[in-house]
Amino acid sequence: MKNSLTLLKGLKLSTLVLFMGLTAACQETENNTANATEEVAATEEVAAADTVARRPPPEWHNIPPHMVGTRVYVCDDASSDIFHVKYDCSVLQNCKSTKRNTTIVRAVEDHGRYNCETCSAEFASIFDDESVRH
Ligand SMILES: [Zn+2]
Repeated sequence: MKNSLTLLKGLKLSTLVLFMGLTAACQETENNTANATEEVAATEEVAAADTVARRPPPEWHNIPPHMVGTRVYVCDDASSDIFHVKYDCSVLQNCKSTKRNTTIVRAVEDHGRYNCETCSAEFASIFDDESVRH
């Protein structure tokens, strides 16, 4: 498979070389050039970006009075859209930017954050209008 591909490239290259008016005597050099080109292409594929899309801010929330004073942490970077109640949360520890300590109200209203599923799963109810229907 790889050999036939190289051969194909070699053939293309020699056609080009012939077209340019050079002799076919340098067959060995052509094959080496084709191999080198392939290696460069393989290296370039490694750089795959893992950009996580930030969700839009919560449209609805209901923070019960006993939760209003809760201190939370937010990672102040471009992709984070969650807050954490635990500073040692494994997700927060991966934060490469500034970690801010704020209240849950500011985290939701000013920063548009949702609860972290890892350390703040119990706070999911503040975004769930089904849970507070009378
Ligand atoms: Zn967390």
